[in-house]
Amino acid sequence: MVDADYYALLGVAPDASAEEIKKAFRRLTLEFHPDRHAGDAAAEERYRQINVAYATIGDAAARVRYDAMRRLPQIDLSRGFDAKSARDLLGNVFGDVFGTRRSQRRRGRDLRYTLTVSFVQAVLGSQHLVEFEAPGPCEDCGGRGARAGGKPAEACSVCAGRGEVKGDGLFARRTRCGRCDGTGMIHPDPCASCRGIGSRRANRSFDVKIPPGTPAGAERVVAGQGEPGRFGGEPGDLRITVNVRPHPRLVRDGDDIRCDAHISITEAVRGAQVSVPTVDGDVVLEVPAQIRSGTKMRLRGRGVPKGDGRKRGEPPRGDQLVTVLVETPSSSDPRLADILAQLEGASVELGALPRRASERAVAAEPGDPSDIEHA
Ligand SMILES: [Zn+2]
Ligand SMILES: [Zn+2]
Repeated sequence: MVDADYYALLGVAPDASAEEIKKAFRRLTLEFHPDRHAGDAAAEERYRQINVAYATIGDAAARVRYDAMRRLPQIDLSRGFDAKSARDLLGNVFGDVFGTRRSQRRRGRDLRYTLTVSFVQAVLGSQHLVEFEAPGPCEDCGGRGARAGGKPAEACSVCAGRGEVKGDGLFARRTRCGRCDGTGMIHPDPCASCRGIGSRRANRSFDVKIPPGTPAGAERVVAGQGEPGRFGGEPGDLRITVNVRPHPRLVRDGDDIRCDAHISITEAVRGAQVSVPTVDGDVVLEVPAQIRSGTKMRLRGRGVPKGDGRKRGEPPRGDQLVTVLVETPSSSDPRLADILAQLEGASVELGALPRRASERAVAAEPGDPSDIEHA
């Protein structure tokens, strides 16, 4: 999505006109056309990327969406959000403008978000537009809560800055101060938009990157992207939990992926080409002749990307293990029973069932009840 800079790919400025983009595209497709670079994989890839870029920013509507995506805050879950810069930024915004004690600063609450991704997206990595409604900093006062040019926050006069008040009577409990909502601070000149709270509900959007090999239930903390703090307090964190939808046929097993492939008796005897789903799309598995049910076949490199995938001498991905299962025909039709009896007769005659024959040799006498009782 916004992984690649389509403007840079076409060598134009982000504010280039549609005409400029079209010109750049024409020039580059001529330059990198496969006809002029036969067998040059790098040129071929470049040609592909140029076309992908133009399909987006060469289309007016798609370009508007792409530009909007580029402006979103990016969260790369493989690296984690840069918490330090977020805190520094907020520190600069708030600084000590209130002149209040640190204890009066209120940290914002954490936000939780469950991001559901497909099995393939979790294995190969993916990028997601995450949108939800939650309190964010009030735009009119920059989260300060005070009106522009208004007086700074001061201690609440009702609770004398303590945030709680004591009722009447000997055993009266302390209760939360209603005037300052327990913060101990009051804005004498509150911002009209947020009534001094400093935050307002808004649509929050993030561009979240799921790294390859993300396990189900993985949780990442994006520091500083929760609800805004009050009176100079730090914002809360955004906690993203990754929920992985199960695949109808693929199951993850560490760095490997497992699946079953069903073949018929005839295919087991003759060998077969079986289409098997992988995270890269369907592949054709060559099942050799005379295979036994339960045999595992390995599709190398079709598993989960390992670590950073850059270690020397180590395959960058796990494997896919396919268990080949021979299906027993299930029908009570006597014709099928006849055909199978013929098959068995011929097999014994040809010596094609050597193990079956050797078991027969030591089998119990006919009529022995142990023949049928195997509970
Ligand atoms: Zn108060
Ligand atoms: Zn405000």
